[in-house]
Amino acid sequence: MSEHEDVIIGLEIHIQLTALKTKLFCSCSSDYRGKAPNTHTCPICLGLPGSLPVTNEKAIKFATRLALALKCTINERFYFFRKNYYYPDLPKGFQISQYNRAGGKAFADRGVIEIEVDGNIKEIQLNRIHLEEDPARIVHEGSITTSPHALIDYNRSGTTLIEVVSEPDMRSPAEAREYLKQLMSIVQYTEICDPNLEGAFRVDANISIKGHDRSEVKNINSIKEVENALSYEIKRQKLAIKRGAILIQETRHWDGDKTISLRTKEFEADYRYFPEQDLVPFETDEQFVDKIRIKLPEMPKERKERYQRDYLLNEFDAGILVLDKQIADFFEEGIKLEKSFRPEEYKLYCNWLMNQVSRWLNENNTNIANTKLKPEQIVDIVKALKENVISSKIANSFIEEMMKGTSIQEIMKKSGKKVISDENKLESLCKEVIKENPKIAADYKKNPKAIQALKGKVMGKTRGQADPKKTEELLKILLK
Ligand SMILES: [Zn+2]
Repeated sequence: MSEHEDVIIGLEIHIQLTALKTKLFCSCSSDYRGKAPNTHTCPICLGLPGSLPVTNEKAIKFATRLALALKCTINERFYFFRKNYYYPDLPKGFQISQYNRAGGKAFADRGVIEIEVDGNIKEIQLNRIHLEEDPARIVHEGSITTSPHALIDYNRSGTTLIEVVSEPDMRSPAEAREYLKQLMSIVQYTEICDPNLEGAFRVDANISIKGHDRSEVKNINSIKEVENALSYEIKRQKLAIKRGAILIQETRHWDGDKTISLRTKEFEADYRYFPEQDLVPFETDEQFVDKIRIKLPEMPKERKERYQRDYLLNEFDAGILVLDKQIADFFEEGIKLEKSFRPEEYKLYCNWLMNQVSRWLNENNTNIANTKLKPEQIVDIVKALKENVISSKIANSFIEEMMKGTSIQEIMKKSGKKVISDENKLESLCKEVIKENPKIAADYKKNPKAIQALKGKVMGKTRGQADPKKTEELLKILLK
């Protein structure tokens, strides 16, 4: 039994349809990021009396795409409902959303996301996905707890959200992390949302310890933060139970270090859901769904299988490579440039993207599309490594320059670094090192591993430029 067997986690993820140009019920631009506050508004998204919403058909098409990708059952007829609550970011006093009770239906039911943690594959079931409008954006000066006032920007009001509600199937923060990674990847592949945009992917995490009431941690913005917030909540709740406290159902805020109680959780009855009578029920049929199904792009799982089949990548490498669509697209562009590659080179190409490039992107908190890196640079570095023109150590030292878009040829010229494979030169270097390190050389007779220390000295003398394979061979001959 794992340490988290009694932990119950369910996630509600709000995905903003950033690829949709207009809002869900009006024709205002939904591209609000970086725009002057309160400039993308109209009577509908400001909720003025007498204004009438009209459903954006493209939003329904986008939702259908995601529902198909997540293997949900799409409901042929659905209504919008009013979810009533009072909050300054909600000008109408209600949010147009969906409700799967009282005769209402979500956009789509069920669905599944497959995850893998520590080699174990697990299916996380979805409860439903539904459509709703985003509230306005409240801006706090400093932090939510210390700001003296709140500013409201209605540009976001009425933009389209799809909420993906999971069943409480996850048992650990690591499972939640993998679930989010897979969902984010699928969303990216459907091209309905750029999940990297600030606020485009927002998570509410429900968490409880078996037999106790749950808390809901609201609006967490990154996968790492979700994992941290969940780990914190597990500790907090378990400690409270140990001390004999009674946990109450409540909404909490994650501030980056800890969760803070915001309010005791509203119950569904508090929202007084009822059908939105200003909107007619929406109907989809098989024909409508099929048209979208045909155009559905390749999903990460299929792409992974194709990479295993066509490039003979192993399952682990292929799985990581396809996760970020931008990286996978980049891989494919390079592959198309170079027809002479064989499995060994594909693997090297993949490793370079997964290790050197991904590490650099993480460290610089950016994504590959924002850099000047081009697929032909990776192709060239793979070729240079393969032909032994440079060592992997030298290649690794090129990453900064590569990210600036400098060609491999130019970097090699500028740095003057390339592999020394001239046997005479290497031999005299090896002799020198053996002479300078008699103790290690003597040790080699009892301990063959000592050769690595000598090889390291040769590499050091050449600033990593000595051909490692040849060096080792020469040392072995000289030490006989
Ligand atoms: Zn509007």
